[in-house]
Amino acid sequence: MEIKEYWSDHAHSRDFKLIRIGFVAVRFRWLVTLLIIGVAGWIAVDWWVLDTAHFKLLWKVRLITGVMLTPLLPLSYLCKLNRRWMVLSLFALLIILLLFNYVSLWSFRDVATMPAGYVAFPYFLLALLAVLPLPIRSGLRVAVFVMAAVLGTDYWLDSHTLNNGQLIDRVWLLLCFSLAMMWVQTGQLRMLLDLYRESTRDPLTRLMNRRLFIEQLNQVRHQSAGEQNFVLMLLDLDKFKRINDEHGHLMGDEVLVSVATTLVDIFGNEAIIARYGGEEFAVLLPNTELEQGARQAETLRLAVESQPIENPLDETETMITLSAGVVCGNKHSKTAQLIQHADDALYEAKRRGRNCVVAQNNLTLE
Ligand code: GH3
Ligand code: MG
Ligand code: MG
Repeated sequence: MEIKEYWSDHAHSRDFKLIRIGFVAVRFRWLVTLLIIGVAGWIAVDWWVLDTAHFKLLWKVRLITGVMLTPLLPLSYLCKLNRRWMVLSLFALLIILLLFNYVSLWSFRDVATMPAGYVAFPYFLLALLAVLPLPIRSGLRVAVFVMAAVLGTDYWLDSHTLNNGQLIDRVWLLLCFSLAMMWVQTGQLRMLLDLYRESTRDPLTRLMNRRLFIEQLNQVRHQSAGEQNFVLMLLDLDKFKRINDEHGHLMGDEVLVSVATTLVDIFGNEAIIARYGGEEFAVLLPNTELEQGARQAETLRLAVESQPIENPLDETETMITLSAGVVCGNKHSKTAQLIQHADDALYEAKRRGRNCVVAQNNLTLE
């Protein structure tokens, strides 16, 4: 878990960004709905506690605020698609609510007569914003914005001075609420990141699962410039069922973990490596030509072939081999077709007797 994942969403993968923004959009919609109901519903409380002249002014302000908040509901559906819409919607929400705060405080010229609900409004707002799983940097921006607006409001309304004990109280409380907001936001982000990892990683080998691999394949395809090629390989362990039958499932699992480790050792950080299915793995090599990819698959095949794997129960050793189908693609390729071609090449490798590499142009390197 890296600190930069909590600091800014720039450190998040494109896939996680979309998931988080979808989550923020749903919460944002609920928040706006609650605020519309709350701001308008509070008219009844005002009717009860305020004098008639004041009530006559404030019910209109509340109604206008509710009406101004309403377009944010359809906007929240656009937020799902684009981070910029999300930032814009959040900004609009803050502006509307801080304007409401300004006008309502202005209407109470004498602070002593101000009901507690109005005094507490900025803190209430910060507490509500804690439901959004924002990274620290975004939380800080929100907190600074709210704090500046609230202190600005105090400055305008309180005879243009920021030099009194009440202000220190206000800053101190705003800071406490801002910290609490950011703490809860980061906690939610952490929960989302954990859930995301659990749902995209294979629990046995810790490699990414098929869902994330396909997502990454699409991303590499989109990002490939011009005729730049990438290599996709599908790998299948040979006669793996025999290992389970003869040595037990525990040994089968040990073999899968051992092959996954060899894969990471051979291909390193540049490659995108996944457990594609039961005893199938997939590797994506961005910016690589077919021949180079086939050579790397061959290096892997030799490494796996020569690597004895120890049974955790009785310390006996067993060997495994794998077959590989290697294909090359670029940004014009179709994902489903690429996978089908790699699968055909893998099938051909099995047909040729296993423990071999077949590249798409039918070049067997063994
Ligand atoms: P081939 O060379 O044709 O690929 O033969 P194979 O035996 O490898 O292929 P087959 O598809 O018949 O068998 C795959 C086996 O992989 C069946 C299943 O029990 C086993 N398997 C799948 N996932 C796991 C796992 O997580 N752990 C263990 N131990 N076995 C698994
Ligand atoms: Mg298989
Ligand atoms: Mg197999």
